[in-house]
Amino acid sequence: MIPERHLFGPGPCNPYAEATEALARPLLGHLDPAFLQIMDEACDGLRTVWGTDNARTLPLSATGSAGMEAAFVNTVHPGDVVVVAVNGLFGQRMCDVAARCGAEVVPVEHEWGAPVDVDRVVAAHPSPSIIAAVHAETSTGVRSDIAALGAAKGDALLLVDAVTSLGGIPVAADEWGIDIGYAGTQKCLGVAPGLAPFTINDRAFGRRVERPQSWYLDLGLLGGYVGEAEQRGGKRTYHHTAPVAMVASLRAGLHRILEEGLEAVWARHEAAGRALQDGLQDLGLELFAQEGSRLPELTTVKVPEGVDSATVRARLLADYDIEIGGGAGAYAASVWRIGLMGPNANPSSVALLLAALGETLGRR
Ligand code: PLP
Repeated sequence: MIPERHLFGPGPCNPYAEATEALARPLLGHLDPAFLQIMDEACDGLRTVWGTDNARTLPLSATGSAGMEAAFVNTVHPGDVVVVAVNGLFGQRMCDVAARCGAEVVPVEHEWGAPVDVDRVVAAHPSPSIIAAVHAETSTGVRSDIAALGAAKGDALLLVDAVTSLGGIPVAADEWGIDIGYAGTQKCLGVAPGLAPFTINDRAFGRRVERPQSWYLDLGLLGGYVGEAEQRGGKRTYHHTAPVAMVASLRAGLHRILEEGLEAVWARHEAAGRALQDGLQDLGLELFAQEGSRLPELTTVKVPEGVDSATVRARLLADYDIEIGGGAGAYAASVWRIGLMGPNANPSSVALLLAALGETLGRR
């Protein structure tokens, strides 16, 4: 038996019921017209949550990290200068991935817990090919201003990680000047892990690497996998066997979100996050992320002096079936990461979590 948990970690979150139910339905063949329709609807839903008209918007069949790989492997030509804003673990991972693609990486380091300093990033190199940043740093619980980066990017392509922001806080890819974006399904979209919602505009696609090192993630070959080739008068062709159940689940999760209304979903995440952060401070706890840049969907809190982080997490799991995350990197034992994503972004989750944590810490 797999136990049922309240997943309040940095991910995965508990999925929306509609997304879970979709996984239990009979499978369709990956070229069945009924499945192709499901895929088209999932891509349409993704365009809406990304805030884009990009024809090339699709769920890649792999996790968020594959979205990161696809973004760099398709756009970095050997020797290209890639400026990466690093304010946490996932910015660091971007540097590694870009370097493996042959980029000359210019990392712009920030203190963990702080948002990206747009002026410093833009000043780091006079003519980069790509500027890359993480919108919502899951390792620190920090939100950065992508619109400001987009306004200042010049001729560079703007490559953005929206793994923890998509479906939780506003993302407006076209308006903000995001040229390439990737996300994951397991966070605020409220679907199981396994797909990487991806978008790339014509500007970035026009500058792409003709024959990238990865066959599987070659965006030039993936057009036929979704309806994008058909939209251009081409044919839908086999590329790989679509993970049909996951795509159906994504479609159901997106449908659920769009039925509630994107703005209402963002407001629900915002309200839940603020209530949690206020409640944690009422318990005498100190938040880690810089004030003014705190993500509502992922709260970082300092482990109090004299408290063992792992013991508290183990007790929450054993006594309340609640999972919260430990810190990342150097903060593994000194910070907790608490997610309120997708269906968990609601007042009863906040109340449950605060009561259980307060009780465990003897602060109630
Ligand atoms: N980027 C960010 C901001 C993330 O939070 C994560 C995962 O937590 C990733 C990338 C990698 O995604 P995945 O673990 O789905 O490969």
